[in-house]
Amino acid sequence: MKGGDRCNAQKTHCPQGHPYDEENTLWYRNSRRCKACDRARANQRYAQGFKPTTPPFRGSAEFFSAHTIHSQDGCWGWAGRIDGAGYGRWSRHLAHRLSYEFHVGPIPEGLVIDHLCRNRSCVNPVHLEVVTQKVNVRRGVIARANGVG
Ligand SMILES: [Zn+2]
Ligand SMILES: [Zn+2]
Repeated sequence: MKGGDRCNAQKTHCPQGHPYDEENTLWYRNSRRCKACDRARANQRYAQGFKPTTPPFRGSAEFFSAHTIHSQDGCWGWAGRIDGAGYGRWSRHLAHRLSYEFHVGPIPEGLVIDHLCRNRSCVNPVHLEVVTQKVNVRRGVIARANGVG
């Protein structure tokens, strides 16, 4: 039976009660994750303090506070080099990806980071979310239609 080994694929809500609709579902290698729960976990980790990062990047809370300017809307604007697309760069790395990996965890292969705040230079982990490239492009199109992003 097709999908028979993944009976929870029939569920319409995650264990915490968030809907598994198109916008809230992250498909990754035949399993799905609730993005609202992902975000809640990221917020929780952030509230608990900073965690050591994975090599080769060796970040620290001090590294991020020294390289960002906090604004009233909660964004951590990258204070270092900004590339032609508007993204913060540290060496050849994208600063917001470093921040996500440092504060939240590894970015699954093939997924990209979306800025919930539509501020490309922002590296606040709470404003970052892993999405598929497809969702990222669609959100960008919607944001541009509304005159932001
Ligand atoms: Zn959930
Ligand atoms: Zn932001």
